Amino acid sequence: DVSSSPQTTHIFKSKLPDIPLPNNLPLHKYCFLKLPEIADRPCLIAGSRKYTYGETHVTSRRVAAGMSKLGIQKGDVIMILLPNSPEFVFFFMASSMLGAVATTANPFYTAAEITKQLAASKAKLVVTLSAHVHKLDQQQGLKVVTVDEPAADENCMSFREGEESEVAEVEISAEDAVALPFSSGTTGLAKGVVLTHKSLVTGVAQNMEGENPNVYLKEEDVVLCVLPLFHIFSMHSVMMCALRAGSAILLIEKFEIRALLEEIERHRVTVAMVVPPLVVALAKNPAVEEYDLSSIRLVMSGAAPLGHQLEEVLRNRLPNAILGQGYGMTEAGPVLAMCLGFAKYPFPTKTGSCGTVVRNAELKVIHPLTALSLPPNHPGEICIRGQQIMKGYLNDEKATAATIDVDGWLHTGDIGYVDDDDEIFLIDRAKELIKFKGFQVPPAELEDLLMSHPSIADAAVVPQNDDAAGEVPVAFVVGFDLTEEAVKDFIAKQVVFYKRLHKVYFVPAIPKSPTGKILRKELRAKLASIIIQ
Ligand code: ATP
Ligand code: MG
Repeated sequence: DVSSSPQTTHIFKSKLPDIPLPNNLPLHKYCFLKLPEIADRPCLIAGSRKYTYGETHVTSRRVAAGMSKLGIQKGDVIMILLPNSPEFVFFFMASSMLGAVATTANPFYTAAEITKQLAASKAKLVVTLSAHVHKLDQQQGLKVVTVDEPAADENCMSFREGEESEVAEVEISAEDAVALPFSSGTTGLAKGVVLTHKSLVTGVAQNMEGENPNVYLKEEDVVLCVLPLFHIFSMHSVMMCALRAGSAILLIEKFEIRALLEEIERHRVTVAMVVPPLVVALAKNPAVEEYDLSSIRLVMSGAAPLGHQLEEVLRNRLPNAILGQGYGMTEAGPVLAMCLGFAKYPFPTKTGSCGTVVRNAELKVIHPLTALSLPPNHPGEICIRGQQIMKGYLNDEKATAATIDVDGWLHTGDIGYVDDDDEIFLIDRAKELIKFKGFQVPPAELEDLLMSHPSIADAAVVPQNDDAAGEVPVAFVVGFDLTEEAVKDFIAKQVVFYKRLHKVYFVPAIPKSPTGKILRKELRAKLASIIIQ
């Protein structure tokens, strides 16, 4: 019986002790805390361009001066619509220096998607590349600056940096917003998430500070930045954490496997932040054998479920690396849990775990119906509390109140459990569990099994409506030399009856977000159109 007495609250904490957090500092001051000691060390590497910490800081200040000349003031929102590049970092830090707020978006968004985010965020300025200017609706006096060659468009100007001496000193409070990323839109519309200086400094400090930092990055480290900086994972765990540690950041503008492997080899990358599809590439692509990846000492996967089998295959390919996961969510500021194998004095960890709750935070697992907190090993909805979580959703008090309760707990919508060693195992999102009669089928579990088949390159499982069962699991599979029956049998042999696949559709590719999340909305739409035909 798990519904123990209502008075008992089971709260999970990190194995690392709580520490004082310097979260009264503005984000840019905090990220550049080591500047005086490391001004000459490499900070940003992008192709042939290299910036030291000193250069990165001074350029960010000049960009702040330039933006201030364009009228950007404290509280204003700017949109960064850039690929991974030094300019992304300069404008983000410059915006923080001005007390402004950076909203970040995918430069490959369509005009309609960008317009929606511009309107919601009320951005006053967009910084982008000339190739994307045509997608911007400049009706409401929006200022557009480009950081590459001057755009032909008369409504847009090339950005000019100001003088360092012109940067105005702004009074910044820890409760001021600094970043306005949007959630990925995996389960519905993407939501604007207000993150303050305090939330982000707390979030970085929980991972990077203390006698035994949860993630131990060194100044000699070269951190791979191939995941898009507009998403919170890369923005936080690569940009902010690496800056704080004084590591070098290798910026990769676009993912192409051979070019990536070459860069890893050439720059002796030591730390790789990845998402599951990148793990698939590193684990399965034959090109990997041709490159020397022995410099990699740490691989952190996050943003989407990483299959057990896959983790093992990668472990064999990168025997020198510590492999583990982080569990994040835009609203959570963003890290809830982190692998303790990454610590300076590491703890043993298990395959499949997405980490242990970060320090200076509380985590509980609640029963989806009774909301009572559950003891170890019982799955339920994961909730987190701490100073790192978001202030709220942008202009949406109702959604905020539905996510952060009166006691300050942020409800994630993710189902998982904590084991006896304080490690967290995610089962799936509550919204994505398939309901077969009374039974719940986690698509992530079936996807992991499918991916272990040698003839399956990628797979996704979604519910199909069914008169008798309510919902049944069906699979979309990228495979070769396979029949539907063979795939169904392969799964049926390994699972209880209600998890069996009822249909298999062969497709050329599985639709995914830039951070590797399966776009089930698209698959469900596809399913609906297949069934109508
Ligand atoms: P939206 O909220 O707009 O529907 P989203 O939840 O995908 O989109 P993000 O904030 O980018 O937006 O992603 C957070 C979610 O990603 C988490 O709630 C969780 O479901 C998933 N996730 C993050 N890390 C992991 C991990 N290590 N393993 C499994 N899932 C993860
Ligand atoms: Mg979400």
